[in-house]
Amino acid sequence: MSLDTAYDPDNIFARIIRGELPAISVYDDDDALAFMDIFPQTRGHTLVIPKKARATNFFDADVADLSVLIARVQHVARGVRKALKPDGVRLAQFNGAAAGQTVFHLHFHIIPVFESEGLKRHAGEKADMAELEALAGRIRAALG
Ligand code: AMP
Repeated sequence: MSLDTAYDPDNIFARIIRGELPAISVYDDDDALAFMDIFPQTRGHTLVIPKKARATNFFDADVADLSVLIARVQHVARGVRKALKPDGVRLAQFNGAAAGQTVFHLHFHIIPVFESEGLKRHAGEKADMAELEALAGRIRAALG
C-alpha cells in the first residue's frame, strides 16, 4: 500500500466505527474513537482514530480533521498516563506499508512505556482479552 492508496471504506477500523467488528473502547465521541490495540507493543497501547474523516493516512487528511484528532489524542494520552503511570509515552503514526502501516485508516498510537518492561514488536502478539478489558476499564475511569 503506497502513500497514495485510495481510502477503502471496508478497512478494519472503518468496520469497527460502524460496529461491524468489536473493539475495546476507552473513549468515543462524534469525531473520534479510542480503543485498545489487540496486538499491543506495551501494556496500555491505545489507538485513536477519526470517525468521520475518510483518510488513509496523514497526507490525505483535512487539517481541520487533524486538529480535532490531535486534541483527542492528547485527551486520551492524558487518561492513559493518569491510569497507568508509565515512565514515558510514545506517540506514533505510520504512513504507507513501507513505514510500517498495516491498517489504512488514519490513526495515532499511544504507547505507554515502562522502564521495567520491554516493547513488543509492532502488530505482533495478540493480547489476553481479559487483561485488555481490565486496562481499558482503568483508562476509562481515568478519563472520567
Ligand atoms: P499501523 O500498523 O500503524 O497501521 O497500526 C495498526 C494497529 O492496529 C496495529 O498496532 C495493530 O496491532 C492494530 N490492530 C489491528 N487489528 C486490530 C483490531 N481488530 N483491533 C485493535 N487493534 C488492531
